[in-house]
Amino acid sequence: MTIDDHGAGSGFATRAIHVGQDPDGATGATIVPIYQTSTYTQEAPGVNKGYEYSRSGNPTRAALEECMASLEGARYGLAFASGLAATTAVMSTLLSPGDHVVAGDDLYGGSYRLFDKVLKEGGGLDFTYADTTDPESVEGALTPETKLLWIETPTNPLLTISDVAALSEMAHERGAIVAVDNTFASPYFQNPLALGADIVVHSTTKYMGGHSDVVGGAVMTSNEESYESIKFYQNAAGAVPGAFDSWLVLRGLKTLAVRMRQHKENALAVARFLQDHPKVDRVYYPGLPSHPQHELAKKQMSGFSGMVSFTLEGGTEAAYAAMKRTKLFHLAESLGGVESLLTHPATMTHAAIPKEQREARGVTDGLMRLSVGIEDGDDLVADLESAISSG
Ligand SMILES: *Cc1c(COP(=O)(O)O)cnc(C)c1O
Repeated sequence: MTIDDHGAGSGFATRAIHVGQDPDGATGATIVPIYQTSTYTQEAPGVNKGYEYSRSGNPTRAALEECMASLEGARYGLAFASGLAATTAVMSTLLSPGDHVVAGDDLYGGSYRLFDKVLKEGGGLDFTYADTTDPESVEGALTPETKLLWIETPTNPLLTISDVAALSEMAHERGAIVAVDNTFASPYFQNPLALGADIVVHSTTKYMGGHSDVVGGAVMTSNEESYESIKFYQNAAGAVPGAFDSWLVLRGLKTLAVRMRQHKENALAVARFLQDHPKVDRVYYPGLPSHPQHELAKKQMSGFSGMVSFTLEGGTEAAYAAMKRTKLFHLAESLGGVESLLTHPATMTHAAIPKEQREARGVTDGLMRLSVGIEDGDDLVADLESAISSG
């Protein structure tokens, strides 16, 4: 049995398990094999089975790319060696020196560093950072030279939500294309292409891989011209994932639907617990009615994902103490794995952003970010309770 046409008509979990993953033609292997080969033997010059060299194409990677495209409702998918390699491919392919980019002002720190230190200084791109939660702020930042609007939603670490449909319409009217970093929502909860965006980027290191055991990235689009040029760049620049890493992400995708449902359920329990705790100052979670963009999140996402940020009444000192006391929440960078992680953005993910700029955006030294895993929710709440209360 095969599932055709990118699984059109099938549900998300079915597509995650079947699209691109027909039994192996050579052996009948049910699971896509790890084609750990760099090259492919040709019958005669120019006569091959569609593969020549694994930077240009590899069957394990091809399976992953087809599956990921289906999950985003895209015609095309491309896999990269990391999320930042995927971002670099989009920016380098679709933009030329002198082009203007409007990007959100609460971005993943590594994206900001790539834009500011590599693509601006070395690549000649011009960036304006705008509050993408506020369409007027974006409108004021767009110029006739603006070629691309870069949106991250929900953002890292403050979990703000930007209106992808409204911003896409505005950018398109001005002749700019729209790329969305969909890492925090995962394709299970949000499909930016369906909301009007042109390009979706993921760090598959996070929810898509889901087990904190691989670094990877992806680009999805339904625009044939963009796809062809990004695919050309993928081969020409060469930041491709290896066969084993592609296989790990593909295996992760099989359980994405069930994992995301549990991440969401546990995150909501954690967010509610924190909201009611007397020692907690602020909680940032788009699933709480108190979140400033809760209604928008409900409109454009089918769930609120598993990321929760918060501060304590005791400020930085209390935060440092609590971070040493959690047992299940490990203090570590990254997110989206089955295990719960606790991150201190100021010294970890966002250390590259100057302190003044960071604090102006709300990323204070007392801010903690949780990647709520899929352990038993009661255990996670108990772990936070003891870490916060014993301070
Ligand atoms: C981790 C992350 C990235 C970068 O991805 P890598 O795989 O680490 O290169 C980009 N955007 C967001 C939102 C991320 O969380």
